[in-house]
Parts: sequence; C-alpha cells; structure tokens
Amino acid sequence: MNQKILLVQPKFPTPTKSINHKDFLPIPLLKIASYHSSIGDVPFLVHGKTDVEFNPDSIYITSLFTYWQKEFWDTVIFYRNKFSESIINIGGIYVSLFFENSEFQKKCNELKVIPFKGPNEVFEKSPPDYGLINVDYQIIHASRGCKRHCPFCGVWQIEPEFIPKESIKNEVTKNKLVFYDNNLLANPYIENILKELAELKINGRPVYSESQSGFDGRLLTFKLAKLLKDSHFRNPRIAWDGHFEEWGKIENQIAILGEAGFKSKEISIFMIYNWEYTFEEMELKRKKCYEWKVQITDCRNRPLSQQFDNYNGRLEQTSKDYYIHEINGWSDFLIKKFRKNVRRQNICVRNNHKFHSSKLERKKVPKSEYLNLVSLPRHEIMRLLPDAWWPFES
Ligand code: SF4
Repeated sequence: MNQKILLVQPKFPTPTKSINHKDFLPIPLLKIASYHSSIGDVPFLVHGKTDVEFNPDSIYITSLFTYWQKEFWDTVIFYRNKFSESIINIGGIYVSLFFENSEFQKKCNELKVIPFKGPNEVFEKSPPDYGLINVDYQIIHASRGCKRHCPFCGVWQIEPEFIPKESIKNEVTKNKLVFYDNNLLANPYIENILKELAELKINGRPVYSESQSGFDGRLLTFKLAKLLKDSHFRNPRIAWDGHFEEWGKIENQIAILGEAGFKSKEISIFMIYNWEYTFEEMELKRKKCYEWKVQITDCRNRPLSQQFDNYNGRLEQTSKDYYIHEINGWSDFLIKKFRKNVRRQNICVRNNHKFHSSKLERKKVPKSEYLNLVSLPRHEIMRLLPDAWWPFES
C-alpha cells in the first residue's frame, strides 16, 4: 500500500529569513522524497512544527549544526507527541556527529526515533525532488567527503571516504548550480567536469555555478582557474585557514584567479575566527584582504561539540550565550569587533570606498559628495561623519 511520508526541516535560527536559502536547502529530504515517490509513496515536505492533515506512516526529520540541536529536538518531540504510531527517522549533521554519544542514544530510545549516520546509500542514488520547493537553482555534488583533516571541520568524520564523480552533465537540469562539495578541486576529474559545464546549455542558455565551500587554494593552478572562469563560475572563494605568515601563498592564489579573469571584488576569502589565531593576527589577515581589495567571508568558530548558540550581535554577551574561544584571547567584545570590521571593510571593497560610515552605507551621501569628502583631511571627514572608519584601523 502507498505510504504517506512526512519530511520535516526544523525551523533553525538561520541568519537569513529565506527558508529556501541556497546554504540551507534540505537536499537529503528531497532525495528521500524522490526515492519514496519512485516506489509509489506520497511525500510531503514541511518546515518546523506544522499541523498536517494526515497520519504519516514515516517521518524523516533532518538536523543541521550541533549548536542548533534544541530547535531540532523540539521539532522531534512535537511530531512524536502528535503521531505516536509513526516511524520517525532522524539524520543530518548533528545526528551524525552525536551518533555515538550515549546521552544522544538514550534520547533516541526514549522518543522512539531511529537515527541515521552520514549519507544513506539508498537515498543518495535518488535525484533531489525539486518539485517540493520553489527555487531557481540546483544543488549538486561532484564529490562527497574530503581528503583533508582540518581540526575544526566535521566533514571527514561524517563522510570519511572521498568519493569523486567523473561526470555530472547528465544530472544538471537548471541554469544555476550551487556545488555543495567540500573540496571541489580535489576531485581528480575536476577538469573534465569543468569542461562539461563550459559547453553545457540548459534551455539554450549557459549554466552558471558557484561553490558553497571555499576552494582549496593549494590545489589551484592557472589551468583550473581558467576552466572555472570558462565554465561560468561566479564569486570564487578561497579558504585562508592558516596563519598570517601564509599571506604570500594566498596572494599568489588571488593573482591566479585574477589572471584567469575574475575581478578582485568578486573574489572572497573564507576565514575562520574565534579560533586558534588571536584577534590581532586576524586583523592582520583582514587588512591584507583590504590591500588585495577582495572580500572576506568570515566564519565564527563553534566546536563540533557545541550544544547551543545564542549569539546576538547587538547585545553584550558571555560564554553562557555562545562559544567564545577564550584560550587564545577572544572575548565577546573582540568577536563582535572583528565581525563589525569585516562587514564594514566588505562594504568599502564592494563600493570602492576608502572609508565606511553608516550614511555612506545607506547611500545617504551622493557620489559627488563622497568624492569631495574623500579629498578632505581625516579630521574634517570625522567632523562631518563622526562614525567614519578606515579599513586600515582596528
Ligand atoms: S579542506 Fe575544508 S572540507 Fe576539507 S577538512 Fe578542511 S575545512 Fe573540512
């Protein structure tokens, strides 16, 4: 008999209001939907705690980061209370990382839910069912896993085996792709994949791509950068997870992207902070990015075991609210200062401004007036725009 399948994406406190933001699309649920449809079942996707008008035979609830587990468990409890007889399966990042944890297993037993660790082989073979969501892009994987073992990353724990694909052209259905690969350039077939994309047309138009993760710049060659450009990749991001002293290598990688045709302000540098490098060192890295006129994608470190994150950029907070890497001198004040500096600097880079001010940001200063302002001595600018801030400052 056809089964009714309920797929649930909990309402996580994502920084974006969009439930279908390209960074948070519930691809595993879409694959599960596709699989169940293929065997005659009826899948139904909901967000958060929703009153559905049928009794599902099976429910699948996905998790995301470990520090959003409260929202996840609240959702599980809601559906368990509502549907005491349904089979509830749980999976996703948090579930995979906590799978061996005895408290976690206890909770699963109490709530009678079945946890899954990592990607499921059966569902992985099914293409995501985009009919359940309304987006104009397609998420795609040209590989799973990662060969590297960065200490702050959970990928190599959840997907320990690096599995590359030789080709993806037959999977592409839309003109916009977002690669969810963790290390796209590590794929031994990457040149072939990029050549496919360069030639591919969907509805007679080219296919544009971007990568959710930063590129592993150590693998970047001019040939690959040129192929990325020719295959219509946009907004390339390079990871700079190392010390400031490595800036020469990053400069070289940016130069390679530049020679291949990418403009500096469309390039972005992925940086982890609230981590083993001090605020002062991160500020040196930030200022280097300003010299290069590239943007920064900052990533606030939370340990893989972190169970909550109530960070609020507008409040003074402590480590009772969110994770603060105090060992290396980070504090709530420094975390928020670094975040604020990155934000203001990115605005300067995007707009070719030499300094930031809230009026400039809100476009309350006409361009001609900015050109007059910028020629004034600094104290004059400060008199007119008291919150003016220059990226070379801390
Ligand atoms: S290279 Fe990226 S995906 Fe791979 S382990 Fe490091 S951070 Fe994780």
